[in-house]
Amino acid sequence: MARVRVDSLRKEYDVGTVVAVDDLDLEIEDGEFVTVVGPSGCGKTTTLRMLAGLEEPTDGRIEIGGEDVTDVHAKNRDVAMVFQNYALYPHKTVFENMEFGLRMSTDLEEKERRQRVVETAEMMDIEELLEDRPDELSGGQKQRVALGRAIVREPDVFLFDEPLSNLDAKLRTSMRAEIQRLQDELGITSVYVTHDQHEAMTMGDRIVILNDGKLQQQGEPTEVYENP
Ligand code: ADP
Ligand code: ADP
Repeated sequence: MARVRVDSLRKEYDVGTVVAVDDLDLEIEDGEFVTVVGPSGCGKTTTLRMLAGLEEPTDGRIEIGGEDVTDVHAKNRDVAMVFQNYALYPHKTVFENMEFGLRMSTDLEEKERRQRVVETAEMMDIEELLEDRPDELSGGQKQRVALGRAIVREPDVFLFDEPLSNLDAKLRTSMRAEIQRLQDELGITSVYVTHDQHEAMTMGDRIVILNDGKLQQQGEPTEVYENP
């Protein structure tokens, strides 16, 4: 768990032609689940990618757990990201997909890595899938694996980029409950980007609304949607 702090974060693409994120300030408490909403192109994904270390800010500062990580490479940040398109390695089995990140980011022995993967797979109810490859899985199974792969690393921060958008309504509902269960159990600081207001309302301790790269409004779900 860790507190996240963003100071005057800015991202320009194409040498200032596009200002994707415009001097954004944000504070996220330890264990808080924040949902981020806003129209397409308002800078949600760019913000998330900068938190993950996948995109370099033009300006500003990112702190995770009190440490300035602005210039820290993605693989050296204790964050795990879950993507809309799952981003699983197609040629690796589910086990290998889950184990790979652990191998890269920790110095655990092989036996401990195996144990952590199996325990997480049991928690996510995917232990039957460990020897399968992604193309043998349904969309819902792939997203459970992607979640499992993020959880197994025991990150300080979870970053979710519209993880349920590719699932049908029924699966979306059950995965939403699953993510909430994990949040209750693990209490990991989470930033969850979605374009679905209902999802933002039901999942977030707090909702952050971005517009044109800026913070438009933030507050508890009832505050935000009662005073638009
Ligand atoms: P959102 O996730 O809210 O849809 P994005 O962060 O993807 O918003 O995009 C914010 C703005 O930055 C948009 O105008 C988008 O077109 C632009 N943008 C995003 N990625 C790039 C890129 N790699 N190169 C140029 N412009 C980009
Ligand atoms: P999202 O809505 O989730 O941000 P997009 O479809 O906007 O997804 O963007 C998908 C990918 O395309 C991202 O990696 C983003 O960086 C890139 N992208 C978005 N807009 C542009 C752009 N104007 N020029 C180049 N790349 C872009």
